[in-house]
Amino acid sequence: MTAVPAAPPRSWIAEANLEDADFPLAHLPYGVFSHPLHKSSPRPGVAIGDRILDLAAAAGHGLLAGLGSDLDQACREPALNALMALGPRVWSALRARLTDLLSENSSRAAALARLPDAFTPLADAVMHLPALVRGYTDFYASIHHAENVGRLFRPDQPLMPNYKWVPIGYHGRASSLIVSGAPVVRPCGQIPGPPGQPPSYGPSRSLDFELEAAFFAGPGNALGEPVPISGAGARIFGVCLLNDWSARDIQRWEYQPLGPFLGKNFATSLSPWVVTMEALEPYRVPPPPRAAGDPAPLPYLLDAEDQRRGAIDAVLEVHILSARMRASGVAPLLICRSNLRHLYWTPAQLLAHHTSNGCNLEPGDLLATGTVSGPAPDARGCLLEIASGGSPLALPGGESRAWLEDGDEVILSGYCQRPGLPRISLGRCRGAVASALPQPASTVREY
Ligand code: CA
Repeated sequence: MTAVPAAPPRSWIAEANLEDADFPLAHLPYGVFSHPLHKSSPRPGVAIGDRILDLAAAAGHGLLAGLGSDLDQACREPALNALMALGPRVWSALRARLTDLLSENSSRAAALARLPDAFTPLADAVMHLPALVRGYTDFYASIHHAENVGRLFRPDQPLMPNYKWVPIGYHGRASSLIVSGAPVVRPCGQIPGPPGQPPSYGPSRSLDFELEAAFFAGPGNALGEPVPISGAGARIFGVCLLNDWSARDIQRWEYQPLGPFLGKNFATSLSPWVVTMEALEPYRVPPPPRAAGDPAPLPYLLDAEDQRRGAIDAVLEVHILSARMRASGVAPLLICRSNLRHLYWTPAQLLAHHTSNGCNLEPGDLLATGTVSGPAPDARGCLLEIASGGSPLALPGGESRAWLEDGDEVILSGYCQRPGLPRISLGRCRGAVASALPQPASTVREY
């Protein structure tokens, strides 16, 4: 006999109960928003249905009473770092309180609905980066991406010999993280010339996107104190979508011997709503089985519980919308459907590895997965892979793309879905390419 799944919990906010709601009661992602009409300062909020519950207002009205003064203060900060620092026990208590306040049976629903400043319509809100990110690391955790890209450069040995032993990553640039919707200015840089010719300086001609997810570190670890793999998952607050915009020509010229630099750090877009690990709990799955002959993870990366359900089953998609498509009223075109479960390393393994040498993570540090490509041809998470077969991407109306052109918008989205459970959206991460800025004059400006 098949068990009948319990009905999803319902909210007194009707829009949260719609079948296609992005923000049902079971979701409750956190973000930082402001209300330009009310000239409110950036503050934490939680998304529910078609609106945002203002956590600063909730704290101000005593709705979070009893959860501790640290949490009360964290809800009044202009970024989520203080909330992230409080750890899983407080996160759980806050989630339980918010679920109670917003559920259909809440005894406080009527009082809450009458508070004039408690809710802001999502449509009126301006979203900000969820946290002040001081450390941003980008991994390379999809073996399918590593093989597809490696094949372009080393057809007979796509994977480097270290790949199956050590999670590969590099330190990215935190200052150029931008929130979804902000324009991405085409970068200028050194562009390699034809063989034997010198490079030139100018706008990138090979601009690409990368479909990624990114995990926010919760409580930090002291310098010199690695986080064991068994406790690493509990240190992760939540996940966003991330677009690691990449100028392949600049990257190709500069990456040896030290790796990515100016081809990557001109802009990195992040979705505004942080999906908590608690909301993702029903969608945890085992990581993909390792191929015969692959080494087992070294003991410091091996944990039975992490092997049992350390991966996340989340569909990830990429759509593209060119300026001409937008002008013609054509809908964005789906160009990739992948899944977060395809990664070779779990989020806990990434965090444990990052701290394994004693490196200290701080609350709000961001650990991105690297391009999340899957095994199928339609699950390639960047143009470098999509066009690697030699044919550019065909767009409606006769356009084609080997690389992004000015006016192109890239939209990352994602969701978790299982029978009997509400759909949990991973949100959207959008960015449109703006023309390169005029090149700097050769005259020296006085300051
Ligand atoms: Ca990347």
